[in-house]
Amino acid sequence: AKNKAAVKVALFEPNLLNARRLHRVLAAELQDSIENNEMVLHYQPIVELATGKLLGVEALVRWQHPTRGLVMPDEFIDLAEEIGAMPNLAAWVLQTALARLRQWQQTLELDPRFTVRVNISATQLQRPYLLDDVQRLLLAEGINPSALVLELTEYSMVTGNEWDLYSFQGLRKLGVGLAIDDFGTGYSSISYLRTLPVDGVKLDRSLIGGPTDGGASRPFIAAILQLVKSCNLAATCEGVETLEQAAMLTELGCETGQGYYFGRPVPAADITSSWLESFQG
Ligand code: C2E
Ligand code: CA
Ligand code: CA
Ligand code: CA
Repeated sequence: AKNKAAVKVALFEPNLLNARRLHRVLAAELQDSIENNEMVLHYQPIVELATGKLLGVEALVRWQHPTRGLVMPDEFIDLAEEIGAMPNLAAWVLQTALARLRQWQQTLELDPRFTVRVNISATQLQRPYLLDDVQRLLLAEGINPSALVLELTEYSMVTGNEWDLYSFQGLRKLGVGLAIDDFGTGYSSISYLRTLPVDGVKLDRSLIGGPTDGGASRPFIAAILQLVKSCNLAATCEGVETLEQAAMLTELGCETGQGYYFGRPVPAADITSSWLESFQG
């Protein structure tokens, strides 16, 4: 019945037909995007709130499309999942981020605690060979597992799949950092804090947005941070856009922050020693 309704709408909605055509075209283009070297990673700083020191970067993928310009991940990750391109893309992201990290380790003076954070999607986590991939890539690049943090959206944890926990435990044993991403959004479950073998939590930017633009109140954020702390997990807040937000989070004891206030995601070429110096507190 659902399909019938969709067809009916499509017949009377030319835009939807266009949208479907675009969807097909994009899907075909996406299949070839890695081979064509069209994927790029940008890196966004993550700083220690108390000192302003750079403690890491999050790798964020973009599609540098030959005619459509820079396409953001929200516009193609779901599509990549749908057409089965995600394993390839995910492996490319991991490999590229780790190769870059090795280069930085060799040429820049990084904080000893510096980590690269990579997003892991739901389907990736369900693959039994995620652990092998991560292990192999770390070894190939000669990277200490503790310099890699995988950010797992809570959505990816609700499947109840046995492999999920297997992957989690294996990755944890390997020494890779694991963090729950987008905490405080729709798919949240407080029970993950207790039941999953993770070491950190990333609070979603919708929480930090500030009371006037739909963010949570200070007491609410304080309570969440307390909860996270009581589970012995490290807290990072994303979406920090103002000095006031940074100050509040520092006061509330949040360890690290990420957001436009500290810096936007930048191409790898921008990450130089002078860029690094701007984070020396
Ligand atoms: P996310 O993991 O929650 O990443 C944070 C998003 O917030 C990024 O969007 C970032 O550019 C944006 N952001 C950072 N600071 C601020 C700020 O101060 N204000 C505002 N308004 N936004 C900020 P982006 O790069 O468009 O990525 C969107 C989502 O795509 C990510 O959300 C992540 O879930 C997904 N994604 C990105 N790269 C990858 C990847 O390599 N693999 C997978 N599976 N997912 C990815
Ligand atoms: Ca993330
Ligand atoms: Ca988020
Ligand atoms: Ca997200």
